[in-house]
Amino acid sequence: MYSVLFDIDGTLIDTGGAGKRAFSSAFRDLFQITEISSGVNFAGRSDRAIALELMELHGVEPSADRWHEFVKSYLSHLEKSLPECQGQVLPGVVQLLDQLQAVDHVLLGLLTGNIKGGAARKLTQYGMAERFKFGGFGDVWHDRNDIAKEAFEQSRFQARGRMQGVMVIGDTVNDVTCARSIGAFAVAVATGGASREELKAAKPDLLLEDLTDTDALLDAVGSKATV
Ligand SMILES: [Mg+2]
Repeated sequence: MYSVLFDIDGTLIDTGGAGKRAFSSAFRDLFQITEISSGVNFAGRSDRAIALELMELHGVEPSADRWHEFVKSYLSHLEKSLPECQGQVLPGVVQLLDQLQAVDHVLLGLLTGNIKGGAARKLTQYGMAERFKFGGFGDVWHDRNDIAKEAFEQSRFQARGRMQGVMVIGDTVNDVTCARSIGAFAVAVATGGASREELKAAKPDLLLEDLTDTDALLDAVGSKATV
């Protein structure tokens, strides 16, 4: 089996800023912070790392209770911000997922900084929730390499020990780095958080403008199956 692990934001979809808006609304409701610091980078990082860094920056003690309150509030705001922000599925994504799903030896998973509930809401909004049965998420881990490890273990479990390879597809340097950390084939796609030059410098195995021209990607998975 070959496991193909997708990042979400900037790779599968562009939510039009719905995630950040829900973060801001949760911080406003819970901690009376009217504007969250612009100095915190959201791209390619785990929700947990972002939320705890924001708490520290705004003088909120980052306790377990606060984290749980945040998750609840964030998810309820996300429910509203997703339709409001009118994002989009990124070019080529639906066709690529169709092509990969048609290949018997391919498993589709997620490798994302989103918390599991956030990932589910975002993918449901864009009609993709059913495509992915497993993955690594940003509920527990701060470091994307740890999320990669979780996704890798999940892949092995799904493949029942018959795993031939793993691919990670993402839009930031962190996606490439975490792919390396689990020995995966790294595909960088310039539809999100990083420029083509930044991604190139991270030396992915494959660098794509978007997911419309994916022959090389399908080659790497060991199939050019078409639907
Ligand atoms: Mg991303």
